[in-house]
Amino acid sequence: MKLILFGPPGAGKGTQATFIAEKYNVAHISTGDVLREAVKNQTEVGLHAKSFMDKGELVPDSVVIEIIKQKLSSLDSMKFMLDGFPRTVPQAEALDTMLGELGVNLDVVVFLDVDDEEVVQRIMKRQELENRQDDTEDVVRNRLNVYREQTSPLGEFYDNKGILKKINGIGSVDDISERINEVLLAIV
Ligand code: ADP
Repeated sequence: MKLILFGPPGAGKGTQATFIAEKYNVAHISTGDVLREAVKNQTEVGLHAKSFMDKGELVPDSVVIEIIKQKLSSLDSMKFMLDGFPRTVPQAEALDTMLGELGVNLDVVVFLDVDDEEVVQRIMKRQELENRQDDTEDVVRNRLNVYREQTSPLGEFYDNKGILKKINGIGSVDDISERINEVLLAIV
């Protein structure tokens, strides 16, 4: 299976991604995780990315596209889930090109739908627990704006391809996993 997990910051992508990766045996590719690791290790990419991440801005397309290229080319099998990528139309177009070169198609884009108010509440709670640098209220609001302007158009992009599945992202973690299962079990 080849899928994208899509939705606003704080929609619960990371939580559901862990469950999907185990149950469906797909590689979990999270650009956020790769970038945070690069920041931690103070690599060249990390140092460059940090200034954008701290402000809640997107890291330049060329940087994240390169990350995804490397990740996809190092997979043993073409079973993967992208989490946090693509986030812009140029990223989605670059992904189409990469997948075309690999000769594969996406099966589904799972859209975890959560409203802004819930997102801000969840992220504020996460800040208390995890203390992520980019989880302060101002930065969260900026991430939401960036999402609205640059990322949400991808909903239409994938809906036009007929592979977008919208899931209500409000409810318990188990309820949401169940909703995702209903969609994925119909595909595998
Ligand atoms: P969240 O889903 O909570 O917004 P992520 O962990 O996915 O957080 O991403 C954290 C930050 O990493 C983003 O705010 C952005 O700066 C950067 N980032 C992650 N993925 C991408 C991407 N595909 N394009 C550009 N920037 C990205």
